[in-house]
Amino acid sequence: MPDEYVPKDEERTEMEKGEKEETVYDAVGREKLVEDGEISPEEEGFMEGAEDDGEQGKCAYCGAELLGYDTVETKINGKIYWFCSEEHAEKFREKSKSEEE
Ligand SMILES: [Zn+2]
Repeated sequence: MPDEYVPKDEERTEMEKGEKEETVYDAVGREKLVEDGEISPEEEGFMEGAEDDGEQGKCAYCGAELLGYDTVETKINGKIYWFCSEEHAEKFREKSKSEEE
């Protein structure tokens, strides 16, 4: 009875198509999630840490508020620090040097 086979075949093909499409979307979605998961935490953590390292606005040695004009910017151990004066920048540099050793 060919009349019975034709609709069944069409149904099966449509179901297979749907399954295939779902699988493709699933794989793409999973890949994206993995990619996001691998990149985001590391990058966010790194960026947050970099922002916390140097506190612009306060002298890293004495904690005095910096108004912007006398600010001394010094890079120590790859980090940028701000100071109220060259003197404090020097003292902080010496301090962190002895702490390193
Ligand atoms: Zn200071």
